[in-house]
Formats: sequence, C-alpha cells, structure tokens
Amino acid sequence: MSQVVQPPSEKTILGHPQGLFYLFFAELWERFSFYGMRALLTLYMVNVIFEALSTRDYAAAAVYASYGSLVYASTVIGGKISDSILGMRASIFLGGILMALGHFVLAIENNIAFFLALAFIIVGNGFFKPNISTFVGTLYKDGDPRKDSGFTIFYMGINIGGFISPLLCGWLGQTYGWHYGFGLAGIGMLTGLLFFWSGIKKNVFGEGGKPQNMEAYERKVIGVPQHRLVRILAFLAAPLIAFLLYSYKSLGGEGTALEDTNIVNLLFYVIGISVLGYMAYIMFNATMDERKKLFMALLITFFMTIFWGFHELHGSVITLFAARNVNLSLINASQTNALNSMFIVILSIPISIMWTYLAKKKINPRTPYKFGMGLLLAGLSFYVVSLSGASADENGMVPFSYLLALYFIISVGELFMSPVGLSKITDLSPKRIVAFMMGIWFLSSAFAFQIVGFISKQLAIESTDKNVGGFETLNVYLDGFRLIAIYALVAGAVVIVFAPLMKRLMGNVH
Ligand code: GLN
Repeated sequence: MSQVVQPPSEKTILGHPQGLFYLFFAELWERFSFYGMRALLTLYMVNVIFEALSTRDYAAAAVYASYGSLVYASTVIGGKISDSILGMRASIFLGGILMALGHFVLAIENNIAFFLALAFIIVGNGFFKPNISTFVGTLYKDGDPRKDSGFTIFYMGINIGGFISPLLCGWLGQTYGWHYGFGLAGIGMLTGLLFFWSGIKKNVFGEGGKPQNMEAYERKVIGVPQHRLVRILAFLAAPLIAFLLYSYKSLGGEGTALEDTNIVNLLFYVIGISVLGYMAYIMFNATMDERKKLFMALLITFFMTIFWGFHELHGSVITLFAARNVNLSLINASQTNALNSMFIVILSIPISIMWTYLAKKKINPRTPYKFGMGLLLAGLSFYVVSLSGASADENGMVPFSYLLALYFIISVGELFMSPVGLSKITDLSPKRIVAFMMGIWFLSSAFAFQIVGFISKQLAIESTDKNVGGFETLNVYLDGFRLIAIYALVAGAVVIVFAPLMKRLMGNVH
C-alpha cells in the first residue's frame, strides 16, 4: 500500500515553509560536524596516525582520497534505500546517529578506532546528506517560485556550519588535544538531530519524509522487516569500509603499472566505467532532444568533477601548506579551512543578485560560460598562491594574504558552478531519471577525491623528520600549484571555446 503524502504545515517564516528552518539548522549542525572533522583530519593523520612513517604525507593523501570518495559515493546508495524502503526521516536519523558515533569513536586516539570511525561517518553521510537535501525540495510544490531561494537559504546553512566548525574544532583540536576537536564535532551532529527531531515533534513536515511504500518498509526478508535489516546492515558495513580505508597501500611496487593504485582506486575505475556504460545505454534509448541534454548534463558533471578535484585539495595539501609554509598569527592551520565557507556566506547573496540583475538586462551568461569561468577562477586562485614564493621570509614562510586570495577567488568560482549546476541537472534530465542523475551529480564529488588523491600523492613530502617545512616543502608546493593552475586555466579556456557548441546542445535550457 502506497501512503499518501500530506502537504507540510502551512505556517511560514520569512515567507518560507516553517520546515525549511528546521532542516536548515539540522544541516548546519551536520555540516558543522563534517567540516570540523575535515579541518583536523589530514593534520591528525600526519601527526598522529602515520607519525612514524617517512611516507606519512603519502599515506594521509591516500586515506583522505578514499575517505572523500566513499563519503560522497555512499550518498547514491543512501538515496536509493531511502526512496525504496526507509523514507527520508528514518534515513536522516540513521545517518545522523552513525555520523555522531563516528565522531565520538574518532575521539579515541587509536589506529583501529580511526579507520572504523571514518567508516561510520561514510555510511552515516550516505544516509543523511542526500535525504536532507531532497527533503528541502519536497517542502515546495512543483514550480513554486520560492524553491530556488529556499535552496540558497539552505546552502547558506551548510556554509555557516562549515565556517564556524573549523574555527572551534580546529582551535580545540590543535590547542587542547585532537579528541576535544573530534568530540565537539560529534556534539554538533547530535545537536543537528535534535533540531530535526523537534521539527517532527512540532509537526512542521506534516506527512513529509515518511516511507513512500509501507509495504516495502515492513516486508520481511529472512524473518526480519526490511527497515530493520537496512539498519543492521548499515552498522555491519562499517568494518568492511574500514578495511577498504586501511588498504591504502598501492597494489603494485615502484615501477609497476599499479604503483599508485590501491583497492579504492580500482573500485572507482570500475564504478566510473559502469556509470558511463549505463549512461550510454540510457542515451541510446532516449529521444534525440533528450540525448543532447543528457550529454550536456554529463559534461557539466564532468567539469564540476574537475573543479572539485582542485577545490577539495583544501582539506589536504592546502592545509599542510598552511601548517608548514604560511605565516599564521590569528588562526592555526586547521582553522584556515573555515575560509572557503566564510567567503561563500559573504558572496552567495551578492552573486545571486548579480545573476538576477544580468538576467533583467538579458546578458546573464549561459551555463557553459559560467562553468568555463568557474574553472578559470580555480586556475587563477592557484596561480596567485604560486606567486607567493617571492614574498617568502628566510624560513620559507609566505604571507597569509596569499592564502586568503586563494580562498576568495576559488569561492567565487564555486558560486559560478555548484548552485547553477545543481539546478541545471534537474532541467536537463528527463523526469523519469532525474533522481538517478542527482546521484551522478553527487558522484562528481566522489570522483573529484580521486583527483585529489592523485595530486596530493605527487605533492607528498617524504622525510624522517615530522616537522618538515622551510624552502624544501615550499618549492614542492609552489611548483605543484603552478601546474594545477595551468591545468585548470586550460580546462576553463577549452570550455569557453566550446561554449557556443554546448549552448546549442542545451536547447531552451539557460
Ligand atoms: N560545500 C558543499 C557541501 O558541503 C558542497 C560540497 C561538495 O559537493 N563537494 O554540501
């Protein structure tokens, strides 16, 4: 029996459904935990988990990449299970509890606990993140003009969480002890769940987020109702994922074809090829117009992957660069992770006003141009920081202003791409596969972490001395940043050159 979904409460706050604000705070606190932990992750691995290895940077880069790839890939599975069995509410609770558990286990300073904790966060995020985002959409009826600004408000919540938490968790973690930072992240996650729970208690969601198919929810498999089975399997998946993370070492020795490839890298090759194969099949069966649009949806997802591949270096190489080669006075290295979200909070409203203004004058650039510019900005951000060597002091430390410039420029690029792309995916995909295409969109972040891993491994410093720094590391980083800048600038230029062609593929979609 399929359950009828009742519209949520009619009450509004600032013209938006009341439910939006409960989801806003729930997601704010979830991202607080996610980004608070991420701010500490690489430094924790380099200074504690892999401290004894001379290849500690390399190991940290490999684990960071596997963690990032899996944490986004799991959202595809979490979204699917929510649609077919659990429903959004139960998925969000399950995900939130797993994530909080992960953060608390991380507070135990122990190597086995470390991998298990990351695995809990991966499974938890898979259930939490896609469902809370979809939940926002369900608060509005189709075509409701408030929906876009609802998502802008929600993106704001994400970044307020992402701004405050590196400052607090980073300060606690690096000043008083890692476990205080991770512990605070866990408390943040529980606070998020509390907001979500109080929204349900106050009935602001109506029937929204309940299982779509109660029969599937209760259906027994090997004597256990499916909803319970999913919960049990979610917990049991953690040790398996922990094992994947732990297998960070390359499968082949130096000089072999698998020199830089571990199990998770292989897994993502397989996922990548399967997804492309499946997309080819879908396109083969689509009409000509759908085919063109789907091809464009795939292309913008691909461009987004490249962008995130440079952007997500923030939590790895850029954090190490900040720790080793940037003169920091007010904040510490992990706290620099707050800068991206800070600029997003400051810039998102002015930039969305700019698009509206340009649209009124009929000169709002079409999506391919925005994407090209986003990639150019990513390139520019790395180019600017690659120039910082000229201002280095005698210890090989560069001024903070370069790091600030990097974050400012790439954040503008992010706003040219990420929110625009999200809404274009829904416009370009035929209704019957829009949820699947959303999954593909989230996979762009998963594949981006494979790029992050590749780059971070190239820029890994090998040394028996844990306290590396000075010109030795500065030169490695700056050469790397210059190369990244060239790649990103070329990618941006190519997208802009081909933009007129892409515009034609997009048809009536702006
Ligand atoms: N910063 C955004 C978030 O946390 C997007 C991150 C991403 O997709 N890579 O939701």
